[in-house]
Amino acid sequence: MGITRRNLLVGAGFGAVAVVLAACTPEPQPTKTPSPGTPTPTPTIPPGAAPEPAAWMRSTWSTDPYARGAMSYLPAGATPQLRADLAEPIGDRVFFAGEATDDEHPGTVPGAIASGRRAARAVADVAAAGERVAVVGAGAAGAAAARALADDGMTVTVFEARERTGGRIRSVADKKWPIPVQLGAWLSAGEDDGTLGAELAAQGVHRLRFETPTGWSKDGAAPTVDETRVKQAVAQAANGPADVTVVAALKASGADPADPALAAALAWLQATTGADTAKASSWYPPAFTPDALVGADGDVGLLVDTPLADLKVTLASPVTRIAHDDSGVSLRLGTGESLSFDRVVVTVPLGVLQHQAVEFAPPLPFAQRGAIAALASGYIETVWAQFDEAFWKVDADIWHVIGGDAPIRTWLNLQPVTGKPVLVGLVGGPDAEAFAKLGDAEAQATVRESLRFFVSATPTP
Ligand SMILES: Cc1cc2nc3c(=O)[nH]c(=O)nc-3n(C[C@H](O)[C@H](O)[C@H](O)COP(=O)(O)OP(=O)(O)OC[C@H]3O[C@@H](n4cnc5c(N)ncnc54)[C@H](O)[C@@H]3O)c2cc1C
Repeated sequence: MGITRRNLLVGAGFGAVAVVLAACTPEPQPTKTPSPGTPTPTPTIPPGAAPEPAAWMRSTWSTDPYARGAMSYLPAGATPQLRADLAEPIGDRVFFAGEATDDEHPGTVPGAIASGRRAARAVADVAAAGERVAVVGAGAAGAAAARALADDGMTVTVFEARERTGGRIRSVADKKWPIPVQLGAWLSAGEDDGTLGAELAAQGVHRLRFETPTGWSKDGAAPTVDETRVKQAVAQAANGPADVTVVAALKASGADPADPALAAALAWLQATTGADTAKASSWYPPAFTPDALVGADGDVGLLVDTPLADLKVTLASPVTRIAHDDSGVSLRLGTGESLSFDRVVVTVPLGVLQHQAVEFAPPLPFAQRGAIAALASGYIETVWAQFDEAFWKVDADIWHVIGGDAPIRTWLNLQPVTGKPVLVGLVGGPDAEAFAKLGDAEAQATVRESLRFFVSATPTP
């Protein structure tokens, strides 16, 4: 379901201006109260919507010029080989890392970390000790690569476009909130090796548990999401002559993706993987996340800042051009300055490569360009809303909206785990992309409208 004018119900004429402003804002910002006298368009909030939050914050990764998405996935017709193609070093000078290049845990922080270490090993195989290596991007992959390179005796400089490290990890500590607001990665299905939960446990910031899920429809409590139909359809599609999308596989199996229960399951799949189920491969499908999560209650950015602690990181320095030949690598920064290195590890997100924000000279080989074009950038946005008092009587930690046309269909209830009336909305796929493009007033109207079933909710039986 898309975010439409109908289900936003906001004042006419505001949207276009707000979208332009949102697109110009590279970082998610706390919502400010307008100063007195500033004319503010008034959104039309329908009766029955949730009350206005006392405080709220949201992400806009889909439109962020240094992210252009939350995590990569395979659309129908794509294969994991594309990730290996993207990871292939060029002339022993240019090396690629980042979540999109990892074949074991793509799309995740552990995958990004593993990719950074893999790229550093590849550099070490061809480099002499003491060589100067540039790392482009100070996210999880860049931090892991830089740490490993420095430990191998290289002279490392990290170039980061933003004024902060972390990339798609962003914990915002503010005393208004009971725990840091997490606008990027912070959730995991468990704490097994290779999961974000294991990484968070190692940093001691993993103590939130969301263990009781429920569905909620206009009539109150409903069964929680069920992955069975999706799994069956995907298993059936695996025997087909050609890869089809998850939604096509569901239709071919006789299921109706618009059925409220199935639509809620697909919304959960999109909110946890970013994949658009109308485009995602059924041969290499996005994995269903169990309906129980662990989350960080502290600074997830430690996963990046700890490895970078004693390394040279140059912030606010977008790399715009990477040239290489047999003798080395030249980087051009947004300031126009050019710098020379022996080798470079590039960790910018897939979406940034797809937008051609970095020029390569000579142009990337066909295999890399083919991979960049054929892999897909998935979208996830998150919104944190704190209320003066709880307007809901639902005890469960994870809420799934069943039925209706709410764009944000997954909510985490932080009240049981923090004691404060805080809800966290998760939206994925095309709805996330549309949500990121909204101005603040429209986005808040969407939040309040999406929570309407919980306003009149009767206590959990
Ligand atoms: C809302 C959301 C929820 C998520 N949830 C989870 C989760 O629960 N579990 C999980 O494991 N993963 C999750 N992820 C995915 C996870 O955040 C990413 O897979 C991971 O952080 C990617 O790390 P990376 O280093 O590959 O990329 P990034 O973190 O994006 O790092 C790349 C860096 O490159 C920088 N950069 C971009 N362009 C340039 C340039 N031209 N010059 C210099 N620097 C540049 C960027 O600013 C960024 O710092 C989530 C992501 C989002 C957005």
